[in-house]
Amino acid sequence: MKLKDYNLTAQDIKDMVSTYMIETMPRYDFVCEKAKGMYLYDTDGNAYLDFYAGIAVNSAGSCNEKVVNAIIDQAQDVMHTFNYPYTIPQALLAKRICDAIGMDKIYYQSSGSEANEAMIKLARKYGVEKYGENRYEIITAKSGFHGRTFGAMTATGQPGTAIHKDFGKLTPGFKYAEYNNLKAFEEAVSENTIAIMVEPVQGEGGVHPATMEFMRGLRKLCDEKGLLLLIDEVQTGWARTGTLMAYMDYGIKPDIVSMAKAMGGGVPIGAICATNEVAKAFTPGSHGSTYSGNALCCAASLAEVNEIIDRDLAGNAKKMGEYFREKLAEIDEVEGVDGLGLMIGVRLKTKKAADVLNKCFENGLLILTAKEKLRFLPPLNISYEKIDKGLAILKKVLDEK
Ligand code: PLP
Repeated sequence: MKLKDYNLTAQDIKDMVSTYMIETMPRYDFVCEKAKGMYLYDTDGNAYLDFYAGIAVNSAGSCNEKVVNAIIDQAQDVMHTFNYPYTIPQALLAKRICDAIGMDKIYYQSSGSEANEAMIKLARKYGVEKYGENRYEIITAKSGFHGRTFGAMTATGQPGTAIHKDFGKLTPGFKYAEYNNLKAFEEAVSENTIAIMVEPVQGEGGVHPATMEFMRGLRKLCDEKGLLLLIDEVQTGWARTGTLMAYMDYGIKPDIVSMAKAMGGGVPIGAICATNEVAKAFTPGSHGSTYSGNALCCAASLAEVNEIIDRDLAGNAKKMGEYFREKLAEIDEVEGVDGLGLMIGVRLKTKKAADVLNKCFENGLLILTAKEKLRFLPPLNISYEKIDKGLAILKKVLDEK
């Protein structure tokens, strides 16, 4: 849609949003009329360099040509059928994903929160069926983030924050333990525990990568105690951290993994993949969703996943991530740099992250914050040249007195 086709101004759009929409997030103050590759454009054609990729979504660049063409083709064939007939995109995508990440079976959802709901439900049903009605407790990490639906937000180990506050009683069956503290997880396990659920790099919670010892220790703990390891790769997945799934970097395999964001390259799709043994717990009637395996989203996702794999965007994320982090560490105002691949958090010495974000925006660079840190999640096909361009803006902002 273009403003000129509706005879409206950018201010009209902002006014309509403030009048008619329930707003729950701050916005960059511009109307985005076009997004292509590494840039977003406002209604006057001003370009903004994209260092956030729709929060880790547009990994092969905004409006990637292959994804756009897949959507156009599929929209002319079949968009939605519900899962009564078989459709071609969902079968091809299922095989591509399971083969690529070494998992047995997939269940499609429409978002990261929904994928995590499915992961939680599958683990609980597996536990109750196999071990009895009290075996449904899941231990998650403090400062984690798993989404905004009731189960996923309860799994989010951030009690007392706006995510949990004033919603009344949350979902039973969750316990929180300190991230990167294996002993805390060991101590939290009880006779009711069925699973441990973590992000390999905490994203929204402040860009905290898990240590090798922690992730491998959790796998071992789960094996010893008959627990399932649930890995939330909604933000880390699909090459963001330098491997297709971040768990690959740790040399472990989950029993269930959730994914979304980059999997769709701009269309709403998520999924869980599970081992055959665990997947069996979902039986007819026990789970479902109208949009699960939607043909249009699956066709777009297949194009995005193919781009990520065929262009080795994991390799690029690793290489560019190292370069980016090295250059960030050279800036005077930078206290420290955290992250893995192109999931990067920056601690500042004196400035407030929110102020720096606003100044970067005024200078044509779009970045994020996570807690008190600056956060960067650029498209994974980023080049040295674009990193340098963004860094020049950031450095100028950080050098200002
Ligand atoms: N899990 C993680 C690790 C996330 O980072 C997010 C979103 O940022 C979610 C789950 C929720 O995903 P969605 O916003 O698609 O529901």
